[in-house]
Amino acid sequence: MTSLDPALARDILAAVEQGFETQIAFTQDLIRLPSLRGQEQTAQDFMHRALAERGYALDRWAIDVEQIKHHPGFSPVKIDYSQALNVVATHRPREETGRSLILNGHIDVVPTGPTEIWSGPPFEPRREGDWLYGRGSGDMKAGLVANVFALDALRHLGYQPAATVYLQSVVEEECTGNGALACLARGYKADAAIIPEPEDDKLVRANVGVIWFQVKVRGVPVHVREAGRGANAIEAAYRLIDGLHELAESWNARKGEHRYFEDLEHPINFNVGRIEGGDWASSVPAWCTFDCRIALYPGEAPAEAAREIEETLRRTAAEVPFLANNPPEVVYNGFFAEGYVLEEGSAAERTLGRAHAASYGQALESFVTPGYLDGRVFVLYQGTPCLVYGPYAEAIHGTDERVSLASVKRVTGTIALFIAEWCDLEQA
Ligand code: ZN
Repeated sequence: MTSLDPALARDILAAVEQGFETQIAFTQDLIRLPSLRGQEQTAQDFMHRALAERGYALDRWAIDVEQIKHHPGFSPVKIDYSQALNVVATHRPREETGRSLILNGHIDVVPTGPTEIWSGPPFEPRREGDWLYGRGSGDMKAGLVANVFALDALRHLGYQPAATVYLQSVVEEECTGNGALACLARGYKADAAIIPEPEDDKLVRANVGVIWFQVKVRGVPVHVREAGRGANAIEAAYRLIDGLHELAESWNARKGEHRYFEDLEHPINFNVGRIEGGDWASSVPAWCTFDCRIALYPGEAPAEAAREIEETLRRTAAEVPFLANNPPEVVYNGFFAEGYVLEEGSAAERTLGRAHAASYGQALESFVTPGYLDGRVFVLYQGTPCLVYGPYAEAIHGTDERVSLASVKRVTGTIALFIAEWCDLEQA
């Protein structure tokens, strides 16, 4: 297939421009709905309504663990999924002449952290110059909405894709990836996928896998006056955390063996994201529980990484007299996900390159990221090139998260141009 007619490309970008204020207002409305884990329903209702109004066929369902738990991409989960709702809208052409496409995005956002260090309420979107502030603005409500408005722009010109397009709004991207996996298990497949995650206007070439695990440490509670006879679970936890950092460094030292990761400064990041323990300042703590996240290279099996994690904990525990006889317990309670590489030179990538060049006036760059992405579900389990490509954002998962509106507009333009070329167009 050849590139788009330049006049049509200009019209499409102009249509994106024309609809952009409405697109920003829509994004702000979505940011106002705090779709933290377990509270995504209102935001998903909002998406469902907006997509139904546009005439798409809608599918909304709760993730069924039974249906995905034996899939190699499944991540173990400890929460109830009865309210974990995915929404998928389907566009069917009159005549299927182009290639099919999935436009995916996640609705879930991470917790805000202390709101008093934000410059405004996290779920009250604030526009300041080129920035749109708010939890989820960059990661990734702006991208999720860009998918919708890219199609709207084509429609304003009287066109629609001449191929099947699925618009997916999924849950669980920030903790398991089971939302995107559930879409696959439900039968949604296409010739290419786009996920407009906040990727600084670049394409993700490769990214790490991620494992979440929780470590439970037991101690012996005594009064502090006889502390020598007790065992401090919190202090023991610190020893284990040090051991896990050493494991992560040994993995970082192997980066040269992994294509695309050689030049990253520190591809494997280990994080203790949550810790709890003890009951009283004057009691030696009997318990400590901490939640961890570690990355792994593409091609490495999570089960093998888990074995190394457990071996490290065993070895570290053996050096602590009390822990040697009371080994810590490990629970896998989230991501158990492989990384992936987007092989170079696919037709989808070439199409994206042309669309990006037309929208940005410069060549598309690719890069490697040390964070989890749902792109793995498409690349690893359905052989679909997945283009994770999206706007410039700052402070995602941090304080004062914000996304660049100029970048969102260009990304929307790229997606609209991509659809026009990849799917081909017919009269709406
Ligand atoms: Zn994200």
